[in-house]
Amino acid sequence: MPLWAYFFDRSALYAYHCAPMTDTLIPDYVDAKKIFTQQAVIIGKLPVSKFERFSELLANTSGFVEISLKFSLNEDFRRVISGELKADVEVLCQRCLDVTTITLEDVFQLALVESESQADKLPKDLEPWFCTDTKLVLADIIEEQLILAMPIVSYHKVSCAHNGPSKRSTPQEEVSKSSDIPDKQNPFAILQSLKEPR
Ligand SMILES: [Zn+2]
Repeated sequence: MPLWAYFFDRSALYAYHCAPMTDTLIPDYVDAKKIFTQQAVIIGKLPVSKFERFSELLANTSGFVEISLKFSLNEDFRRVISGELKADVEVLCQRCLDVTTITLEDVFQLALVESESQADKLPKDLEPWFCTDTKLVLADIIEEQLILAMPIVSYHKVSCAHNGPSKRSTPQEEVSKSSDIPDKQNPFAILQSLKEPR
């Protein structure tokens, strides 16, 4: 069988089978030998709480990571993962130490390698992903990319004044306002009571 027929067959098969995979759960691992020739596409969501190391960088573990992973063999027969990630996560603003939401978005191109020498030979547009097993653990890849996508420091997009310090000063403002009102009203109230006939 010529090579093209093999690829044609597999991709044709896969095109049929992959359609229902859209928006399904991300499998824990895939077969590193097969998934690239199958030209699989995996699209779905995983909870942020699944990623322990990544969660340590966040204020809480609410929310989901949207994931798209395409597996293919490139023209050099390298096993390539073309991935996209998006997640809204809550972190501490480094100015006011209050919680703020940031959007992480990442697009990446990884090539599976089994050694340092293979990694050294990769073209610049491909990052190495070491995998000597037949099991390719998807959560490990996703978590690594999430950590890389995190900014070193995060701040509120708009001024912190609306979010952090002003929240804490609001009760004081209310107290001073409410104490102001009786002060201003009291003289009139006294005058009013003096005017009232006894
Ligand atoms: Zn802030």
